[in-house]
Amino acid sequence: MEKKSDTLILKGTAASPGIAGGRVYYLKRDEFHLPQHSIGAGEVEAELAAFQRALEKTDGQLEELQERVEEEVDADKAAIFAAHRLVLLDPALVGEVEARIRNGVNGAQAIFAVVRELVEMLAQLEDEYLRERAADVEDVGKRILGNFLGVPHTNLGDIREAVVVLAPDLTPSKTAQLEPGQVLAFATAAGGRTSHAAIMARSLGIPAVVGLGEGHGVNLAQAQEAIVDGTRGEVVLNPREEDWERLRERERAYRERRRHLNSLRELPAQTPDGRRVRLLANIGSPADLGPVREVNAEGIGLFRTEFLYLDRDSSPGEEEQFRAYKEVLEGMAPHPVTIRSLDIGGDKEVPHLGLPRELNPFLGWRAIRYCLDQPEVFRTQLAAILRASAYGKVRLMLPMITNLEEIRRAKALLRETAADLAGRGLAYDGQLKVGIMIETPGAALLSDVLAQEVDFFSIGTNDLIQYSLAVDRGNERVSHLFQAFHPGVLRLVQQVIAAGQAAGIEVAMCGEMAGDLWAVPLLLGLGLDEFSMGAGSLLAVKEIIRSLSYGDAQRLAAQALGMSTAGEIGALMKECISGLGLK
Ligand code: PEP
Ligand code: MG
Repeated sequence: MEKKSDTLILKGTAASPGIAGGRVYYLKRDEFHLPQHSIGAGEVEAELAAFQRALEKTDGQLEELQERVEEEVDADKAAIFAAHRLVLLDPALVGEVEARIRNGVNGAQAIFAVVRELVEMLAQLEDEYLRERAADVEDVGKRILGNFLGVPHTNLGDIREAVVVLAPDLTPSKTAQLEPGQVLAFATAAGGRTSHAAIMARSLGIPAVVGLGEGHGVNLAQAQEAIVDGTRGEVVLNPREEDWERLRERERAYRERRRHLNSLRELPAQTPDGRRVRLLANIGSPADLGPVREVNAEGIGLFRTEFLYLDRDSSPGEEEQFRAYKEVLEGMAPHPVTIRSLDIGGDKEVPHLGLPRELNPFLGWRAIRYCLDQPEVFRTQLAAILRASAYGKVRLMLPMITNLEEIRRAKALLRETAADLAGRGLAYDGQLKVGIMIETPGAALLSDVLAQEVDFFSIGTNDLIQYSLAVDRGNERVSHLFQAFHPGVLRLVQQVIAAGQAAGIEVAMCGEMAGDLWAVPLLLGLGLDEFSMGAGSLLAVKEIIRSLSYGDAQRLAAQALGMSTAGEIGALMKECISGLGLK
């Protein structure tokens, strides 16, 4: 770290390439610690008065937002805040909170519980207009609670100008609110390259740096302006003139490089000696398709469907999901689209599903485990995926598989759902390919057995590395131990590819390692068939594949497998890439 006057240069993990700078918007954590105590009769009046003050403060904030948006944006958008202000007058909320306070519940608990009950009630209504009000009530409820507790509520939707977002961390649902154009770049104190905020930044094409270190929280909170260099993993807080000058130079160089890579757009991902692989893209929603088409990806290797469930108050129904899947299929035609079934849990919280808090969420009730235990949720999604399969080449992918029974149970549910659809007179692809993600060491070690039951594998290295090396993928303190080139990880990857080849099924990789330029020669040499990654890396990966012979890659992979440490393997890969003489 280098310090000059109040300029600070911080180093973090390069999470999403590109460089941008501008005014800072600091996004605080919504930290609501709810007091647990009840209140005595003598405290009721003071608690009611505090609640009133919180309502007034909230109304004042909303009025200000309403006026600002009316002036700067338009009356329609401002009307949202007018609707929010009406919520403050709703007796179902205000009267109920007051009644509970009179019954001895502390104000924060009363606000929290009443808002939650109201949101749940609204979310279940048939009427779409009323259902949508649930989001308003939830948002206003958070504001009231924040004001009551003296913790301001931050909402990315409030941003009205292009800014650099700095934050202690970004949850997937906050990241889902980011809009390119509005958010020039972001940087966070926490997080690693494979945390979901980083993954989403790459698919949105927003430059990002994560893992700056919790110790820099205050500096981030106080910065006025910042430059984020997501290629180098560097953040400059309160830049000087020379930093802005350097930003402009790097922007020019970055644009130049993109122009060169764009010239590869139409060329096949084929080595000079004829090994052809496929390069696909990872997405989280139909809105991510723009950059995917720009780089001419050969399909979608991972559609993270859980993002359709985040940042909202009720799950998308069959029809809504079907429309989203169909939109992606039509957008990618004639290429295949790999739709992954719901992978919630871990760091992807979906508040409206009311999942219990767990001590070890990454080892808990997530992904396929949740789906098999909640067959109605799973069936709705399977029905939507099957229906979409009538419109293109769908591949269904099951996440977090650890044993054969999970695959069999999922396939049985798929068959039942297909029979239901046939009964409803709806079309679907009877040959739909079903594959699994290999992202647990248990699945990797059992891959020869699992291969007998499925049509393809896709290696999820983000979780596979996390579970093999016992390193939380979002914890920056241990991020140096999150090693794709750890010899143990490489042996697992090699074993999975070999098991797939022996069984005659295709092996893909959709974890972030597939878009890691240093890893490409190694994965190519190990015989990977398909690489799927954030669209931003695809052309650079293609450049490497087109520059390296398959024979050399195979020899390199054999050499790497004989090595003892991640450091040695990384050095070998670096030497290989430097030797290619890329532009
Ligand atoms: C993975 O684990 O590698 C993966 C692609 O899934 P996710 O990042 O969504 O957990
Ligand atoms: Mg995973």
